[in-house]
Amino acid sequence: MRTLLLFLLAEFAIMSPAPASEKTFSFKNTPGKLPKEVVPTDYSVRIIPDIDKLTFAGTETVKLNVRSRVQQLVLNALELKIEAATIDGKELPASAIKIDEKNELLALALPSELATGEHTLTLRFTGKINEQGQGLFYMRYQEQGSGARKTMLGSQFEATDARRFFPCWDEPVFRARFQLTAVVPENWLAVSNMPIESEKKIAGGKEVRFAATPPMSSYLNVFIAGELDFIESRSGPTQLRVITTKGKAEMGRYALEATAQILQYYNDYFGVAYPLPKLDQIAMPGGFGGAMENWGGITYYESKLLFDPKSSSAETKQDIYEVLAHEMAHQWFGDLVTMAWWDNLWLNEGFASWMGSKCTAHFNPQWEVWLRREFPRDPTRRVGIAKEAAMDGDARSTTHPIQQPVATEAEANSAFDDITYKKGQSFLRMLESFLGEDVFREGIRRYMATHRYSNTTTADLWNALSETSGKPVAEIAAGWTEQPGFPIVTVKREQDDGVSVTQERFTVNFKNAPLLEWKIPLTYAVLGDNPATLLMTRKSDNIRNIPPGRVLKLNVNGAGNYRVEYDQPSWKLLLGALTDLRVEDRVNLLSDTWALVQANRAPISLYFELVEKLPASTELAEREQIIHVLDFINRLLSGSSEQEKFQRYAQALLRPTFDALGWEGKADEQSAAATNLRSSLITALGNLDDPKIMANCRERFKAFLANPESLAPDLRPAVFSVVGRYADERTWNELHHLGLKTTSIEEKQNYYDALAGAMDPKLAKKTLLIALTDELSTSRAVYLVSRVARESGHPDIAWDFARANMKALLAKIDALGANMYPPSLFTFFSDDSRSQELRAYAKNNLPVASGPQVAKAADEIQFRAEFKKRLARQLDEWIGAKINRR
Ligand SMILES: [Zn+2]
Repeated sequence: MRTLLLFLLAEFAIMSPAPASEKTFSFKNTPGKLPKEVVPTDYSVRIIPDIDKLTFAGTETVKLNVRSRVQQLVLNALELKIEAATIDGKELPASAIKIDEKNELLALALPSELATGEHTLTLRFTGKINEQGQGLFYMRYQEQGSGARKTMLGSQFEATDARRFFPCWDEPVFRARFQLTAVVPENWLAVSNMPIESEKKIAGGKEVRFAATPPMSSYLNVFIAGELDFIESRSGPTQLRVITTKGKAEMGRYALEATAQILQYYNDYFGVAYPLPKLDQIAMPGGFGGAMENWGGITYYESKLLFDPKSSSAETKQDIYEVLAHEMAHQWFGDLVTMAWWDNLWLNEGFASWMGSKCTAHFNPQWEVWLRREFPRDPTRRVGIAKEAAMDGDARSTTHPIQQPVATEAEANSAFDDITYKKGQSFLRMLESFLGEDVFREGIRRYMATHRYSNTTTADLWNALSETSGKPVAEIAAGWTEQPGFPIVTVKREQDDGVSVTQERFTVNFKNAPLLEWKIPLTYAVLGDNPATLLMTRKSDNIRNIPPGRVLKLNVNGAGNYRVEYDQPSWKLLLGALTDLRVEDRVNLLSDTWALVQANRAPISLYFELVEKLPASTELAEREQIIHVLDFINRLLSGSSEQEKFQRYAQALLRPTFDALGWEGKADEQSAAATNLRSSLITALGNLDDPKIMANCRERFKAFLANPESLAPDLRPAVFSVVGRYADERTWNELHHLGLKTTSIEEKQNYYDALAGAMDPKLAKKTLLIALTDELSTSRAVYLVSRVARESGHPDIAWDFARANMKALLAKIDALGANMYPPSLFTFFSDDSRSQELRAYAKNNLPVASGPQVAKAADEIQFRAEFKKRLARQLDEWIGAKINRR
């Protein structure tokens, strides 16, 4: 409703009212479908899976606290068959048990009113073991070493799928203690949130009984079982394990060591020690692509956790660390303290993203985590630094506020998007930098101590931070979390030593956007002086005491979630002082300038002027920002007459940095940054048709075929991708053969990524056909099509293939992914007619729920079409003028 209202207001160009701040947590007022009169306090659940039939049988006993008299019990259940129910030992007739499939509810009519106080409900039920990663599911995989085909079980309950495993009050506000018992084959290892309390042999296997959890939300339950291995260590009172399928445990060594390091950091940061006796990091060979923060038993798609130093790249190690730090932050922020309802999901995800990055940066400064732009190498990756990616999406007409109403299960599931994760993270970082690191941490400690084992809303966090900082945090935050978009601040030198700053909404491809204002925690510094802050609470404000000749930089370290536009005198001073700025500030200037170009507030010459004036350096984040822009323009110009000239210009910009780095790491080169930059540059120059890079990659690939040791793991993805891009049939076959042969998930990914880049249309079609086979796991198979659309330069071929085979492709995706998948394939087009085609396709083929994704994709196509024309003209002028000057 909020969005609709804002659009209406736009027509009259009225300022929308300041968003109303939300209330602190109250159980009674928390949204949800379930009545609040009955509260479960203790569950005891016993499950017997049947691996052959892919079903399970279960029983449960639930202790209830009835708060006011009720005539029926209403809880959640989905795809479960209820065989019997008793209340306080009295069996209910079958007619009293009603399943409402559509609303995922189970209603039990009681013979008489239930008095307030304690009662006991028991249920007997059966359910199914799914193929996709929802509820209880199975994974089939090839065992390391023996190669035998095996099956294991896993669970995935967030957001609303615990109800597929056992009937329960499946809304986060209904915290309870869960005690699980499971019957599994004797040679299996079973894992849940808590340690095993007892184990006994019974007919057909063994019965494993886990200790009861502390009070927690139902979606945090976990159950994993199979022929598993583990390695373990301890950190204080906490047992730490990395659990994998047989033969892979040693690949978890890096994750185990990182876990101990991160745990100590968080124990200190949060001021509350990790409360469970053990923490398991569990690697799963399929089922889902990401990671899930189940309390005490975190699950990961195995390539997010396992690391083989022999064949893994440095980038993989960083990915693992970041994902670990994110999921472990949830053990406090999410698990110990949980958002009351899904409309506050950002509180979990934005916070864990911010905390995970903070911790990763603390122990690994060389990775420049706050500065680097996330490259879309892996679509399943949701964490990582992506302030820029969040701002890109937030500037468009299709954005939404961080906090949005959630009424249905489908809405809860689609709340997991970039705005929730990345804008949330970016806002918290801005707030921390404004309040100060120590004050902010004190606030978090207060929040943890006050709300542990309970639920909260965003208002509770702001209260804790206000109390420790003495600043009006809730007032500042409302504009950022309850309304869409973000501001740009324009800087203008006034007479004498004054500088005026004015804010307006920053938009890209968004005409007549509703006017909004923010309370901006501005930071600024006069070069050489200490940074200062100004809470900007109006449309315009003034900064005093800035002498006219001194360099002024706003948004210190780029920690703020806003853009800045300087007037001519201020910009000239900045350009003259680039060598004296910190790399954080230079990256911020680059990002803001590129955004001004996209928004049509500046020509591309402004950006390239800045790039050419930068000191020649091998700063990773700075060069990666430039690579990102060059790559974007190169793809946009694909097939046009301007492309070749642009490529030569772009090669000339990147070459000096690559030549300084060289192909081989110097003997004393310890820096992960250099390694990362080297492979980014190889890929970038390869994509820009640099002949020397192409020849060199081919040579190295030939040597690799004869002797794999000859090519360092760090260089492999880049070299393979360049070779794949220009592959002929023979090279394509060689890469494919390597992909088929390897059992390493990471290596396999490298080879198939390379195949997907082939520019030869015949080979692109060959790659696409692989998506219909079972060569790759299901999530990777469908992603191959997206990859071809993006990398091969033939989005048309990829879309024709997808449209013709949509049914087979959608069979490999879960319901939510299915809504996003077809529109996502359109985002690589820059021809306006494709947006019409998408809308027509959606109307006839896609569910209403895919509407927002269709709108996003259509907006992206229109933006690209307009930007392409504008850029071609501006580049012609800029590059033309350069050639004439020579
Ligand atoms: Zn998360």
